[in-house]
Amino acid sequence: MSYQIADKNGVQYLVIPEMEETGIRHFFTTRKGPQHSAIPFVSQEAFVMVRQVHGDNILVIDKPLDDIFAFIKDAMHKPCDAIITNQKPVGIGIVTADCLPALLYDPVQGVTAAVHAGWRGTVQGILPKVVCQMTAGFGCQVEDILVGMGPAIGPCCYRVGNAVIESVRSIHPRWEKYLTPMGDGKAKLDLAGLNTAQIEDTGILKKNIFTAGLCTACNEDLFYSYRRDGIGTGRMISGIIS
Ligand SMILES: [Zn+2]
Repeated sequence: MSYQIADKNGVQYLVIPEMEETGIRHFFTTRKGPQHSAIPFVSQEAFVMVRQVHGDNILVIDKPLDDIFAFIKDAMHKPCDAIITNQKPVGIGIVTADCLPALLYDPVQGVTAAVHAGWRGTVQGILPKVVCQMTAGFGCQVEDILVGMGPAIGPCCYRVGNAVIESVRSIHPRWEKYLTPMGDGKAKLDLAGLNTAQIEDTGILKKNIFTAGLCTACNEDLFYSYRRDGIGTGRMISGIIS
């Protein structure tokens, strides 16, 4: 477990100390803020987000943005669940309320990524795909990449049924480690654990993976949770700013 709670402009958010040491600004917001979906550091208008659809499309920003406001408006309609950029200064982020938010940073090439990984994105391998894109498309060395995983629903609370169990079984050789049978045909899924295994398989070093280790459903005072509160719940924003 690795996180600290920070506060800026009234917004309480988590940071990964080991990532902060590199100088990269990043955050995983909590539900504690002056207004719904407030973020620290940058105004919402200078922050790229996408239309998340539980898929594996990646929005790549590898050229200077002539009109950042037009780009941001356009990106909101793009069905993507990850963003990668090497442009500065560009803030990128994703929203979650139980799904796993992951922020990646390569301090050598100056590349950042924000990823939304629910079970559907995870079985599509979205996080390994982002790592591949960073190495193949941006010249990153896999051993330079830091990965910070924010608060997500934990194995304590994430009961899943047959469709999820079968999907996880089909994509990972060590699936038994991440699915705990509950005896009623259901199982508890360790989403962060499975994503960690997937990125370790790509060559990301264990020492460069940091996990907040906080369950969104257990920690009602800090986080929104779709499972706990239903469809009308709020969302946390996870962002990284190059
Ligand atoms: Zn829990």
